[in-house]
Amino acid sequence: MKYISTRGQAPELTFEEAMLTGLARDGGLYVPAEIPEMRADDIAALAGLSYEETAFRVMRPFIGDTFTDAEFQEIIARAYAGFGHAARAPLSQLAPGHFLLELFHGPTLAFKDFAMQLIGQMFEEALKRRGERVTIVGATSGDTGSAAIEAFRGLDAVDVFILFPHGRVSEVQRRQMTTPEDANVHALALAGDFDDCQARVKDMFNDFAFRDAVKLAGVNSINWARVLAQVVYYFSSAVSLGAPHRPVSFTAPTGNFGDIFAGYIARRMGLPIEKLVVATNQNDILHRALSGQGYFKGETVASISPSMDIQVSSNFERALFFAYGQDGGAVAQLMEELKSGGFRISQGAMQALSETYASGRASEEETLAAIKATLSQSAELVCPHSAVGIKVAEERRDPATPMITLATAHPAKFPDAVERASGVHPPLPPRMSDLYDRPERVTRIDNDLVAIETHIKGHIAS
Ligand SMILES: *Cc1c(COP(=O)(O)O)cnc(C)c1O
Repeated sequence: MKYISTRGQAPELTFEEAMLTGLARDGGLYVPAEIPEMRADDIAALAGLSYEETAFRVMRPFIGDTFTDAEFQEIIARAYAGFGHAARAPLSQLAPGHFLLELFHGPTLAFKDFAMQLIGQMFEEALKRRGERVTIVGATSGDTGSAAIEAFRGLDAVDVFILFPHGRVSEVQRRQMTTPEDANVHALALAGDFDDCQARVKDMFNDFAFRDAVKLAGVNSINWARVLAQVVYYFSSAVSLGAPHRPVSFTAPTGNFGDIFAGYIARRMGLPIEKLVVATNQNDILHRALSGQGYFKGETVASISPSMDIQVSSNFERALFFAYGQDGGAVAQLMEELKSGGFRISQGAMQALSETYASGRASEEETLAAIKATLSQSAELVCPHSAVGIKVAEERRDPATPMITLATAHPAKFPDAVERASGVHPPLPPRMSDLYDRPERVTRIDNDLVAIETHIKGHIAS
């Protein structure tokens, strides 16, 4: 299995190389050169299997010879052992024909755990075999950083440093980053905002001397291995509702387009998905683009669903690559135009996109109303991101096809908005109820590249 860049100018890589590299050297994103297909009876045979066994069968064709079957099975088993639900990604029902896929039973209570936990175990295995260590750095506005820390804590081949904006993440998010005791975990509270954190991480990657000295690696949402991990729950949930004999649709609360793009891969593999519905909050660049208004940057406005507050959606480049018939040159041209504000999408590409995707948006008021209505009509307390999905799914769904809305975070991760909407304070799951009592460990750091690099050099294990 070979991986190619969406901009057509970077070397082809194996799965292992694409995973360890992240971003391609031409600035593009790696995608499989060919998407493996699953026959209907192979899909039917997933019925009744454990999540782990489903994960093995769905992902196996993508990893080539990076891991043996036995190694890959062990990696998957370790990745999901820390989840708080035996089904890993259970389905609940909201209404006749409308289901909720609960992706928040991982260690940090958000769907990013599905990909991060797996990537942590895959990195560890690949690096040990190579006799290498890496330093992971990441910037976070909350969810990604805690998921990365949980995924890499205690591993031998990795040190992880996460920059978050001091005073600007929720208390649950902060504590998830500052309370792990493992020596290879380093939470850095930066004097600045999220954009400063992201800019300093970018600076570190562009400082080649530093980058080589500490063997810098990234695990942000463009890493192909993260997308791949998310393909699995499209299969597990669709099969439990009767696929391949009955088609389903999905709605995903969307920011960087990673989660919904995993659905596209599942569809291309042969899972009968009628529509993939992109749900955005008021930061609706994707909804505008998919409604034919072009892809133009706006101002990011802070919302009660902060993990979807984006200006540009990095994984949308992968969707464009396939909509433009895998023409890397055309994608490179669009990304050049994006630098000066945005671009129009060609008619052919729009047609290809609308065969697969639909879209909608939810305002802040509509999101709060959806939290309230879901509690009263379905007895489910949902987080604001999931509520955006539910609102858009209700608008877009066709009664003849079951709709599965992805619930991307646990309500207790966003207690203030949930309480404001519903009057109910969402409690943490019992296995985490001591989060507020655990001691915190965090380094306050200036918004200064030299200070950050010096700190990292002084705190890596070898
Ligand atoms: C990251 C995140 C999203 C957006 O997912 P993308 O893959 O970036 O589209 C939605 N909800 C929550 C809770 C998240 O953490």
